[in-house]
Amino acid sequence: MDTIEQFLKWVKESDNIVFFGGAGVSTESGIPDFRSVDGLYNQQYKYPPETILSHSFYRNNPEEFYRFYRNKMLCLDAKPNITHYKLAELEKAGKLKGIVTQNIDGLHQKAGSKNVMELHGSVLRNYCERCGEFMSAEDVLHSEGIPTCPVCGGPVKPDVVLYEEGLNQKTLQDAVFYISHADMLIIGGTSLAVYPAAGLIDYYRGNKLVLINKSATPKDGRADLLIQDGLGNVFSKIEL
Ligand SMILES: [Zn+2]
Repeated sequence: MDTIEQFLKWVKESDNIVFFGGAGVSTESGIPDFRSVDGLYNQQYKYPPETILSHSFYRNNPEEFYRFYRNKMLCLDAKPNITHYKLAELEKAGKLKGIVTQNIDGLHQKAGSKNVMELHGSVLRNYCERCGEFMSAEDVLHSEGIPTCPVCGGPVKPDVVLYEEGLNQKTLQDAVFYISHADMLIIGGTSLAVYPAAGLIDYYRGNKLVLINKSATPKDGRADLLIQDGLGNVFSKIEL
């Protein structure tokens, strides 16, 4: 039995799948992994993305933060791809219990998924730092400079976990709960390089850990099944 067949067999047998995904899930929707710095980027910004997307940079240079954020992080026209849709179908069929994601694009919900644990927050939620008023991503996109609250005029901050900021504890606890109770854990599109998110897979106690990634990761040895292929190629083969 080849690896894809084994994968499909486990998916068929399981009714308690949890998916843990990273940037690679969304690259097929045209959302770039900001860690893969391109030439265009180099010409436009004086700082690396990790610097711009840090808490201290946001505090000290909010206008430059928002220039990068609008241009590189707010991909509001992006559409879910086959992986997002298949995961939503698996949930609807009662086979998948939750999605833990490092992505902030909201594409899983757009595809119809309900139980999505967003470790790094979401660009679709933005709140006034003074009064807590909600602002949509469209309004942030179409504002200029630092977006301000329509109610009190305070600065609006995206509900996105920046570098130097801690993860939301409730989201983290939920992720640990679902992963530790999962029968099958599918990990895809992540290099498993960023902690504490990468440490989450240590909570998995089953024997169906599937790792899908085009390139090698530091956790390949942990996998019960290693599939070195694109996520779309693999998920498109799931039939429900
Ligand atoms: Zn306000």
